[in-house]
Amino acid sequence: MDIAALNSTKSLRKSVLSWMCLCFGFLSFAFAVFNLTVNNFALLGYIEVFFSIYCFFTYISLLRRPLRFWQSIVMCALITLIVILATALATPHNGVFVWSFALPILFYLLLGKQYGVVLSASLLVIQSYILGTKSSLSPFTTFNLSLNLMCAYLSIWAISHVFEGSRAHFSKRLKNLALLDPLTGAGNRLSMNHYFEVELQDKSQLYVFLLDLDFFKQVNDKHGHAVGDKVLVEVATLLRVTLGKGYVFRVGGEEFALFCSFPHEDEALNAAEKIRADIENTHFKIDGLVINITTSIGVAKFRSSNTLEGLISQADKQLYKAKRFGRNKVYCKFKKEPKLEKVIA
Ligand code: GH3
Ligand code: MG
Ligand code: MG
Repeated sequence: MDIAALNSTKSLRKSVLSWMCLCFGFLSFAFAVFNLTVNNFALLGYIEVFFSIYCFFTYISLLRRPLRFWQSIVMCALITLIVILATALATPHNGVFVWSFALPILFYLLLGKQYGVVLSASLLVIQSYILGTKSSLSPFTTFNLSLNLMCAYLSIWAISHVFEGSRAHFSKRLKNLALLDPLTGAGNRLSMNHYFEVELQDKSQLYVFLLDLDFFKQVNDKHGHAVGDKVLVEVATLLRVTLGKGYVFRVGGEEFALFCSFPHEDEALNAAEKIRADIENTHFKIDGLVINITTSIGVAKFRSSNTLEGLISQADKQLYKAKRFGRNKVYCKFKKEPKLEKVIA
C-alpha cells in the first residue's frame, strides 16, 4: 500500500504551495513590470520582482524535495506583507485591498486551523486600521460599503475555517482507520511499516520485542471469544503503559511487536523482562472473572543491514525458542556477541 497516501495533508499543502508559487511567480512579475514602468511605484515593483524570483525558486525546490513547514510560513508572510504594504501605499481606488479576501483561504490551506485563526484575525485588524485611516477617501466613505467588505471577509474566513476543520478531522479519522487495530487501538502492520520506513530516522539503538501470549486459545475456549477480546485490549493497554516511550503494534491475533530505543542491551533486556513479569503478575478482571496469562518474548537488536522483515524474523526466532523452552520467557541473541544467548525467567 502507498503509505504516502495516508499523509493527505502534506500532499495537499505541497500541491497548493506549488501551484501558488507558479501562479504568483508570473502574476507578481507582471505586476512588477506594471508598477515599475506604467504606475511609477518603484518600491512595490522591486518587492514584487523579489517575490516573483522567490516563488519560482520555491516551485523548483518543491519539484525535487518534500515540503517543509517553514516554506509555507515564508510564503504566507511574504504575500501578507505585500498585500498590507500595497494597501497602505495605494489609494483605495486601486482595489488592491481586495487581495485580502484570498488570504484566509491560503492561511488555512497552507498552515492549518490554528495559524488560520490567528493570521486571519490579525489581517482583519491591520487592514481595517489601514483602510479606516483612509476614510476621507472613497470608497470607504459609506457605512454600507464598509459593512459589506467586512461581512464578505468574515464569510470567507468562516468558510475556510469550517472547511479546513472538517478536512483535517476526516483526514485524521481515515489515517486512524488505516493504521490502528480496531480492537486494541495499537498500531497495525501497515502502521509498523510506516513507523519503521518513514518516521523512525535514527535506528541505531532500536530493539524489537516480539510477544506472543501463551496458551491464549485456552482463554477463548474457557471464557469465550468476547472475554478473550477484552483480555487483548487490556494487554495492549498494559504494554503501552509499561513500554512508555516506545511503540506498540498488533501484528497477529495475540501477537504484538514493540519498538523501542535503548542505549544498552541490558536496558533492553530489563525492559522486556519487566513486560513479561507485569503480564504474569497482572490479574485481568473481566466481566467478574479474574484471568491470568503469561507471554513469551523474542528480542532483536537492529543492525544497519536489517530490513524490517529481517529484524522481525530475528525476533521471531528468539520467540520460537522462548516457546519451545517453556514459555513465559524472554529470549534474545545479539549478533555482536555470538556466544551470548540470554534467557531470563
Ligand atoms: P501458544 O502458547 O503456542 O502461543 O498457544 P496459543 O493458544 O496462544 O497459540 P495458537 O496460535 O494456537 O492460538 C492463538 C489463539 O489466539 C487462537 C485464537 O483463538 C486466538 N485469537 C487470535 N486472534 C484473536 C482475537 O482477535 N480475539 C480473540 N479473542 N482471540 C484471538
Ligand atoms: Mg500466536
Ligand atoms: Mg499464543
